[in-house]
Amino acid sequence: MAITPPPTAHIIDGNALGAKLRADVSRRTAALQARGITPGLAVVLVGDNPASQVYVRNKVKACTDGGLHSVLDRYPATMTEAELLARIDALNHDNSIHGILVQLPLPAHIDAHKVIEAISPAKDVDGFHVASAGALMVGQPGFWPCTPYGCMKMIESIGYDLRGKHAVVIGRSNIVGKPMALMLLQKNATVTICHSATADLKAMTLQADVIVAAVGKRNVLTADMVKPGAVVIDVGMNRNDEGKLCGDVDFDGVSRVAGFITPVPGGVGPMTITMLLVNTLEAAERDAAQRGLA
Ligand code: NAP
Repeated sequence: MAITPPPTAHIIDGNALGAKLRADVSRRTAALQARGITPGLAVVLVGDNPASQVYVRNKVKACTDGGLHSVLDRYPATMTEAELLARIDALNHDNSIHGILVQLPLPAHIDAHKVIEAISPAKDVDGFHVASAGALMVGQPGFWPCTPYGCMKMIESIGYDLRGKHAVVIGRSNIVGKPMALMLLQKNATVTICHSATADLKAMTLQADVIVAAVGKRNVLTADMVKPGAVVIDVGMNRNDEGKLCGDVDFDGVSRVAGFITPVPGGVGPMTITMLLVNTLEAAERDAAQRGLA
């Protein structure tokens, strides 16, 4: 019988790192509360998409657990675009709300882009507004999208210096791949972005010191595609044949080659919610500073 060697890669534990960062959020929240300000997040859900319902519940619970104020605004799928825009406008003017998150996807009759653009950039804690994307692009303060922001915190947590390293991002979505590449670039990595039309993905990933897989397909990254010692961050969320949650990376194979690897579950997922709390707290701190209360 073949004996499977133990994994060699160090596992970056998103639950543990998330808990550490959330403890810091709770501390800073308590400091704000001492000055009469409770950071507040409004989560807006339209329709009854089952996955979205789970996501928003988790986000609201994480906020409450961290001492933040959180409201869940649930509306039927029949809500009109005008009604939703009016609700966003009210939240923009609500002083108890520092962050607004509209859970995607929205029903087909609502233009998601128009709704995201209606959120005040000062409350755009998801970092999806064009103003937030632009701020990241030019290196100005703004809100970074939570998932790639969480990936950066994971890389930072192992004390890894990205300067001069080659980072390969697989995937170019507006919410993960593209902002991820910009954040890595900001830390002086040399960045390659791969996508569905990339001619030879393996040739790219084999050169990488850091690989971020954000595709949404199982086994996009296998052991033969990874340079020994590389840092591998797995953003993907898929189901395996047994229906269990898994990432884009062949974890068992790649963890025998990589130096560091994130698991799924327990990796990027918990970090995404953590960074939502961080962004909401940051929004409240900036608001307090602007109003001369900090
Ligand atoms: P997306 O919008 O569907 O983008 C997927 C990207 O992968 C696209 O850029 C696509 O290229 C590229 N791609 C598809 N097949 C490929 C292939 N064979 N080789 C190389 N690139 C390929 O997805 P997303 O929103 O970025 O999410 C990606 C994954 O991350 C999903 O599994 C999602 O569920 C997960 N996710 C997880 C979290 C979390 O908190 N853990 C948060 C967000 C997303 P084209 O642009 O050419 O089509």
